Amino acid sequence: MISMDTNNCRLATLAKARLAKRQKVQSSVATTEIRPQDRLSRLNPARRASVDNRLSQMPSLYRNTYRRAISGKSPAAGIKAFCNECVGWQRVEVARCTALACPLWSYRPGRIE
Ligand code: SF4
Repeated sequence: MISMDTNNCRLATLAKARLAKRQKVQSSVATTEIRPQDRLSRLNPARRASVDNRLSQMPSLYRNTYRRAISGKSPAAGIKAFCNECVGWQRVEVARCTALACPLWSYRPGRIE
């Protein structure tokens, strides 16, 4: 039979091991995570100029989504950025989109159906 102290000691050891593992994962994620703004600096100069031009023409509220889309790491951000631009930067209009034949219609953010 396992005593209560032995059991508590094992639980404490397990908790410490889990915490150490979580911290190790978090630190590795923190070091490998690249912000979307930093990814943009890796674009070739021609594309970078085009992207910067487009960024300067959109409302600041939508720029981070666009940056995430351009970074190539988030297809969902790509759809969101495209839909936002399509409806003239009126986010609520994306959910109300009536272009039923659009290939992105089923994926648009905020869809009700
Ligand atoms: S789903 Fe609607 S808002 Fe999105 S790209 Fe298509 S037409 Fe535009």
